[in-house]
Amino acid sequence: MLLERTIPIISPSHKAFPIEVPKQLLSADGQLKDLRGRQLHDLRISVTDRCNFRCTYCMPKEVFGKNYSYLPQASVLSFEEIVRLSRLFVAHGVEKLRLTGGEPLLRKDLERLIAMLSELKTFAGKSLDLTLTTNGTLLAKKAQSLKNAGLARLTISLDALEDAVFKKINDVDHSVQEVLQGISTAQTAGFKDIKVNMVVQRGINDQEILPMARYFKARGIIVRFIEFMDVGNSNGWKMDSVVPSREVLQRINSEMPLLNLQPNYPGEVAQRWAYADGQGEIGVISSVTQAFCNSCSRARLSTEGQLYLCLFAHTGFDLRALLRKGASDAQLQTVIAQLWSQRRDNYSESRSTIKGANHRKIEMSYIGG
Ligand code: SAM
Ligand code: SF4
Ligand code: SF4
Repeated sequence: MLLERTIPIISPSHKAFPIEVPKQLLSADGQLKDLRGRQLHDLRISVTDRCNFRCTYCMPKEVFGKNYSYLPQASVLSFEEIVRLSRLFVAHGVEKLRLTGGEPLLRKDLERLIAMLSELKTFAGKSLDLTLTTNGTLLAKKAQSLKNAGLARLTISLDALEDAVFKKINDVDHSVQEVLQGISTAQTAGFKDIKVNMVVQRGINDQEILPMARYFKARGIIVRFIEFMDVGNSNGWKMDSVVPSREVLQRINSEMPLLNLQPNYPGEVAQRWAYADGQGEIGVISSVTQAFCNSCSRARLSTEGQLYLCLFAHTGFDLRALLRKGASDAQLQTVIAQLWSQRRDNYSESRSTIKGANHRKIEMSYIGG
């Protein structure tokens, strides 16, 4: 299928709002709320803007080709900078950290970062929920060292079991077998509750919904079916390509009956469904057809230290500049509090009223999903 695609010009140095060093300081009490009463709970940290895949819906080759300039090393946050910022977010109530990218396992010595982050404790003094999303190709090599470093959980993206379909999507000839091998190595390394994410696109991989559900049900792994989103400006998104979660559920339910489950915690993004035979569960993430902005508790830190308050934002806030200017912890913490407390974002709820062409957004591979 030919996509009608506008090739955007993407600058590797993303413009960010500068931030003033605050004069008056605010303290952190682990309960930071925005203007809609949404409490900061998750921080997603992109550790690299590079990837060994060129998923057509995320980093299409026409845009992320040989001449694309990735962030220079000096722009990328060091592990020490990431940990320092994470600690400040945790003081504001963050309990969950997700490492992402690009492909996070491409970041050199990632295990060292994981070991450092795993030392952090939540405001209430408990262990953080430290997790990572990966395309799985490097897991066969790295699962054990990630586990040893203190990574608690793993989410692995896999969009099809049929090799030809998968290769067409990743567009660089990586096989399904490599990812399945990665999943099984991760299980052997002791990772429990592994989740598999599948982005469903009509006419591209929707015929894989049932095979994916069957395959992972038999192996006790939760698949989460994600509606294809209009993130970034380069993936040729059209509403017609979205398979609503309702339809995904109908298709699975007709063969393997499902029962609705309660969320694990308030604000959980995936809606949970159990197989009625008691053998496992699935999740659906309906970002397009059932926006969950009203409970959105996620902040995102880009590879170069810009803070994004929404996945669909155009501009971030330059925390790195402040950090490298020598701001104190108290000043950085105050800035985070000011930015979050002024937040009103609800893009998914208002998508249909926003004129696409006028709303430029950050790319998924930059901000990490
Ligand atoms: N490279 C890693 C991976 O693929 O798991 C981590 C980064 S990737 C950007 C994070 C997640 O975002 C993946 O599960 C990917 O499938 C998902 N994603 C990327 N573009 C998307 C889109 N347009 N709509 C929905 N999900 C998307
Ligand atoms: Fe890479 Fe993940 Fe984007 Fe695919 S979805 S191109 S694996 S960053
Ligand atoms: Fe959160 Fe923005 Fe997504 Fe709404 S659109 S759920 S505010 S990230």
